[in-house]
Amino acid sequence: MRQQAHARELLALHRLRLGDYEASVQQGLLALDFLDGTGDLLRQSKVHCTLVLAYSDTGLYEPALRHVLLALETARGSGSALAEFWALSRSSMVHEGMGESERALELGRQALALARTIDDPEASFVGLNNLGDTCLIQAQTQRAQGVDPETSLKQALLLMREAVAVAQAQRNSFAESIARTNLVSILIELGEYAEAREQAGRARRLAKAHGFRSLEENNDAQLAEVARAEGDLDGATAMMKAQLLVAALDDDPALHIKLQQALFEMNKESGRFEQALEHYETLHALILKRTTDTAGIQSQMLINTLGIEQARHEAERSQLDAARLRIRADDLDHQANTDPLTRLPNRRALDRRLPPLMGHSRDTRQPMCVAMIDMDHFKRVNDVHGHGIGDQVLSAMAALLWAVTRDSDMAVRVGGEEFLLVFADTTLEHAEQACERLLTSVRVHPWDAIAPGLACTVSVGLAELAPGETVEGWLARADTALYQAKDSGRDQIVTAVLLSAG
Ligand code: GH3
Ligand code: MG
Ligand code: MG
Repeated sequence: MRQQAHARELLALHRLRLGDYEASVQQGLLALDFLDGTGDLLRQSKVHCTLVLAYSDTGLYEPALRHVLLALETARGSGSALAEFWALSRSSMVHEGMGESERALELGRQALALARTIDDPEASFVGLNNLGDTCLIQAQTQRAQGVDPETSLKQALLLMREAVAVAQAQRNSFAESIARTNLVSILIELGEYAEAREQAGRARRLAKAHGFRSLEENNDAQLAEVARAEGDLDGATAMMKAQLLVAALDDDPALHIKLQQALFEMNKESGRFEQALEHYETLHALILKRTTDTAGIQSQMLINTLGIEQARHEAERSQLDAARLRIRADDLDHQANTDPLTRLPNRRALDRRLPPLMGHSRDTRQPMCVAMIDMDHFKRVNDVHGHGIGDQVLSAMAALLWAVTRDSDMAVRVGGEEFLLVFADTTLEHAEQACERLLTSVRVHPWDAIAPGLACTVSVGLAELAPGETVEGWLARADTALYQAKDSGRDQIVTAVLLSAG
């Protein structure tokens, strides 16, 4: 189970990295199924974090939010500060995606504060980089709303410079490349074009040296953006057009859209309306494609999620059904083996349980006895007091029988007003004593509480199991003894003689 869960967990992460969000979600949800009830909260938290990414990357914020909460809950339950960091960090990301930048900032700050208390290189970097990026997005929103973004940008700058330093100290080129690229975006917003150009150049060289193609292309676009911001529209247009020819933009639709948008705007500004229209049309088609692609993935992911949840519910239901059937079967079995009036085991139960008891007695060389019991003149009870009173007498008899037996013994209603006691591991002498107690207890029982003038007695035929004897032979001997007891005046015990073997 655990290995299955681990395999699914890895597959979910792997699929996510490949951009296969559907498969990632499917594997993640299956992993959670396996992890459910294992108590492995740390692992559950990791899987929730992966699901958060898969959902939020496709814009499915509702399920993303659900898994963020579960990621936080399980992380806290696990006691791992690192797991809690990741959950907070993902939570910040989801709120940012939902346009709740204040909440995103607050969560990002909590994540970073936590990252600073744990010695984990990735967490240190991610905490800084993500919060820096969130500050940048807030600044852009503020600018669009006519609010001064200066403070947010300054904060973003500080954080991103620290992120660069951390990545450098860790000799993590990929992280450094990302942080420098983000730094350039902040510098452009701040109007620090000289440093922006210098940093973009450094980031680009780093990305190129390590083969980070998509980052390198982003740095190229940033260099063109700097040129545009400085008023060099022709230069920026030429750079971007060149980039459209060489870059593998199919892999990076976001960059492609950014370039087409900038080219559309710059051509329009320069009065080149024909070119502007061309870029506008491409831009429009790209946005439309992205929207339909996203919608397709979103609906497929929701379908998968529903399918898995439905399968889970069905599994739960069939488990419940099985449990119900088991209980029902047990119930039917119990009913089939129990006499409804006295609640004593019936003849059928005796047939089933007596042979193994006999086998045990022989295996352990312990003596074993049966007592066949028949109520005396029971017809008269019915005749004088009615059948209902007769039934009450039979029920009361069951209680008296229970009283003289031990847990290992068996009291059976074999039919009518006939009962059988099976004494396991009991000598004939002890069985006789038990039967005497029974006779006495029946004789002194306050029967007239059931019906005035009522009195009852029983007759007993007792037989010890003989070596090599069959069940039928043994019970027949007890029966014969019982008839002798009846013949001899009732309310007494007759013990069957043991026929000497062979
Ligand atoms: P004996 O001392 O010779 O055994 O006399 P008896 O009257 O008990 O004779 P017998 O065993 O032949 O009769 C048993 C009677 O028990 C017959 C039947 O009407 C009655 N009986 C059997 N089952 C029930 C039952 O479930 N409820 C009631 N009230 N009576 C029953
Ligand atoms: Mg009888
Ligand atoms: Mg009788």
